[in-house]
Amino acid sequence: MRYAILSDIHGNIESLDRALERVAPEDRLLCLGDIVGYGPNPNECVELIRTRAEGAVLGNHDLAALENFGVEYFNDAARAAIAWTQSVLSDENRAWLNGLSYELRFPDFLMVHGAPVEYFEYILDKRTAASAFARTDAPLVFIGHTHIAEYWVQEPDGTIGHKHMQQGGELVLEEGKRYIVDVGSVGQPRDLNPAASFALYEPQKRRVEWVRYEYPIDAVQQKIHDAHLPEYLAMRLETGR
Ligand code: ZN
Repeated sequence: MRYAILSDIHGNIESLDRALERVAPEDRLLCLGDIVGYGPNPNECVELIRTRAEGAVLGNHDLAALENFGVEYFNDAARAAIAWTQSVLSDENRAWLNGLSYELRFPDFLMVHGAPVEYFEYILDKRTAASAFARTDAPLVFIGHTHIAEYWVQEPDGTIGHKHMQQGGELVLEEGKRYIVDVGSVGQPRDLNPAASFALYEPQKRRVEWVRYEYPIDAVQQKIHDAHLPEYLAMRLETGR
């Protein structure tokens, strides 16, 4: 049994399609939120996740598209993209997003957009990782939100370790340790590698794999241009930041 865990799709259907080519029909698809915002195909992305995923949690851009949550903290490009997303999002997709919860708990892992309890907090260093571990008893937490493929590990003595997965790779979960796994971003990677990212998790093998893959960035850039979304959102896709 294998889970495919996707996050921060951000209306990028070109990348979502390429991700799903790497997911087997029998894989159990999960989504960590931010399906919309920034990108030119929010409806198509919500519809694909609605039909294909067995679970999804709410991201801050999803909530911003629904009710302007947090837009005062967004940069100009993000705010413009949310206003555009609100103007095109269908009623059915809006209603589906509105029904998502902030967390999903499975017997052996937790899914949240940014961090346990403080759902939209950014885990950026060992201090915020330690505080995130302290807010849950889950041995394994899957997150997105930072758009950076990486993981945090808490040793039995409380020490925090960290590793970037900028080029993909795998992690074998060790008994007695706890992990926060950031699966990276499907739609807008920000770890200086423009290749998109998601994770495969095989519970029986206790194995997490980060898949980095190419997608047609130029096609998305053209759509961003055609929709009159900020050019900055097109440029950052090719630099991965
Ligand atoms: Zn995001």
